[in-house]
Amino acid sequence: MTTLLEVTGLTKRYAEKIVVDALDFKLDEHTSTALIGPNGAGKTTTLSMLTGLLKPTTGSVKMSGGDLRAMIGFLPQYPQFQPWLSALEFVEMAARLSGVPAKKARLEAQKMLEFVGLEDALHKKIATFSGGMKQRLGISQAIVHKPKLLLLDEPVSALDPVGRREVLDLLKGLQQETTILYSTHILNDAEEMTDQLLFLRDGKLVEQGTLREVRQRFDEPMYVVEFGSEEEARLFADQSEKYTKAAGCYVHVEI
Ligand code: ADP
Repeated sequence: MTTLLEVTGLTKRYAEKIVVDALDFKLDEHTSTALIGPNGAGKTTTLSMLTGLLKPTTGSVKMSGGDLRAMIGFLPQYPQFQPWLSALEFVEMAARLSGVPAKKARLEAQKMLEFVGLEDALHKKIATFSGGMKQRLGISQAIVHKPKLLLLDEPVSALDPVGRREVLDLLKGLQQETTILYSTHILNDAEEMTDQLLFLRDGKLVEQGTLREVRQRFDEPMYVVEFGSEEEARLFADQSEKYTKAAGCYVHVEI
């Protein structure tokens, strides 16, 4: 397998606080990786450093190839959409910003919107879109320039189960085309389309491996319960079940 991206000693410090602490990992081409961890673990900060938007305090991100703008597609956790634009206008604009030539931008935008299942909404104003449609729109703007690396920050967390399913299936279909790194705080969402899991906690990589390897370490079968806060999870874990040291907010229980 060819390595697309190599992260070495990646660290971000704000004043006295280290929010991302000496991460080492690799992403191979055409694989998908889930960056998992509770809120505050450092997922967004890590992704921001990979996009080049945020400068690491120390450490390096090496990626083969040239212009980052062309190489990377990014869907932030809270994307900013101009609600007065149509889907096609928005994705065309994103294509232009990512370096797609003007002549091709509209056609590429249309193709991507069709790919994400928004073919009937090309000319509809974004203001009228549901959460699931917005997320699909966000994905289409992130892939319109055919990036080698697709970074997605919590792409399914805000969606209902149907929207989640749709977006996860969509991402699964993209693995042939690109390399995917996406963050989530919900372990279940990382299960099916993931070649590699990276567990972040307090800025540190506490577990790393394939789903199978990680599962074996935690004993199968694994059922995941999501809690609103770490305290709730701890309370539950202390009382009855095993507490996964890796994910922090999650407990896996056996039945
Ligand atoms: P996650 O995406 O896993 O929820 P974040 O990367 O957003 O985590 O945040 C990790 C930690 O870094 C949090 O404790 C957050 O408060 C802190 N943090 C993030 N950005 C800044 C900043 N600009 N200044 C100071 N602390 C920050």
